[in-house]
Amino acid sequence: MSASTRPAPADRAVATAATLPPLPFTRPIIDEETIAGVVEVLRSGWITSGPKVKEFEAKLSEFCGGRPVRAFNSGTCTMEIALRIAGIGPGDEVITTPLSWVATSNVILEVGARPVYVDIDPVTRNIDLNRVEAAITPKTRAILPVDLAGLPVDRDRLHAIAKKHKLRVIEDAAQSFGSTWKGKRIGSFGDFVSFSFHPNKNVTSIEGGCLVLNNEQEAKLAEQYRLQGVVRTGYDGMEVELVGGKFNLTDVAARVGLGQLPHLDAFNAKRAELVKIYFELLDTPANRALGLKLPVADFTNTNWHMFQVVLPEEKLTIKRAGVMERLLAAGIGCQVHYPAIHLFALYRRLGWKDGDYPLAEYVGRNILTIPLFPAMNRADVVRVVDTLTAILRAHQKA
Ligand SMILES: *Cc1c(COP(=O)(O)O)cnc(C)c1O
Repeated sequence: MSASTRPAPADRAVATAATLPPLPFTRPIIDEETIAGVVEVLRSGWITSGPKVKEFEAKLSEFCGGRPVRAFNSGTCTMEIALRIAGIGPGDEVITTPLSWVATSNVILEVGARPVYVDIDPVTRNIDLNRVEAAITPKTRAILPVDLAGLPVDRDRLHAIAKKHKLRVIEDAAQSFGSTWKGKRIGSFGDFVSFSFHPNKNVTSIEGGCLVLNNEQEAKLAEQYRLQGVVRTGYDGMEVELVGGKFNLTDVAARVGLGQLPHLDAFNAKRAELVKIYFELLDTPANRALGLKLPVADFTNTNWHMFQVVLPEEKLTIKRAGVMERLLAAGIGCQVHYPAIHLFALYRRLGWKDGDYPLAEYVGRNILTIPLFPAMNRADVVRVVDTLTAILRAHQKA
């Protein structure tokens, strides 16, 4: 092969990687015992909400230091229900982050309240708590932060601000199941805490979620909102006092969740081990020169729900979609979590525009989730890093 026809280094890395089986950006692990357990539920004659949901809730409560926990069919309705229990609705404001899954903001609109965004800290990519107090108005009722990629928002400062201004807190901890704050599990303290068990999360119930509450009175309300507002008493008593929805988890899903919980610590330890390899390979002088922004190297609190890099758009001749196209062509899964929420058409119609939250917008344009799940090995991480850095090297601005 002459020098002129030899593929460029980037193309060589891509060509080699393309011959390997595709690597998804995430993949759940369901053990055989869980599969057998699901079959047992299916044969039991009771497949929707029943004993397995109760058992799942008891285990989740144990996990959350004995606090009341109720299970639901998503980690979205949990937040909507928390807002309803807190009595938040039309005329109220809820402070939140513009950089999250759109569910975080949609639930605020769903109850008729208005999201008030506070820009992110570009290092943690979470809501910038330094700017929260300036956003509080007489209409503010709650703060709804997100632990993006599982990195917890500073709980001491968060709850201190909430206490000082008498605000409720709904922690969108969808991504931080198994993360900790000062040695305490997320969910074991605070106000409302919402978790999701979507298949991409660190543990899954296929679809599902749970809400950690403060007392049995709130838990009872949560049960009403979960299923048509119905309260049953005695043999035939039925009463409806509020408009509830259809948010109950099935026993089949709960059995999947029960089979996942014992693996959580091992899953998260494996994620951290893989992330250490990402740092070892990406945090080198040669790769630092590419300008890729890495996440906070937190090996104390984070459950490493995702490994996300922020591409240096000012240094590249291709945009994120071009990087993704090349990664996918090389068999490497990647995803965007997330574009800035306030720039979606729905939110623009409600008054938000480009430039409102520049830090979230920059990260929203350039953030990229690369593969991380417990079944990966060192060679997979090497493959991702080699391919990604080769793509970036081949597309540097002069
Ligand atoms: C997954 C997720 C949710 C919603 O969870 P579902 O169970 O899919 O409804 C909410 N917020 C964040 C940040 C999430 O990642």
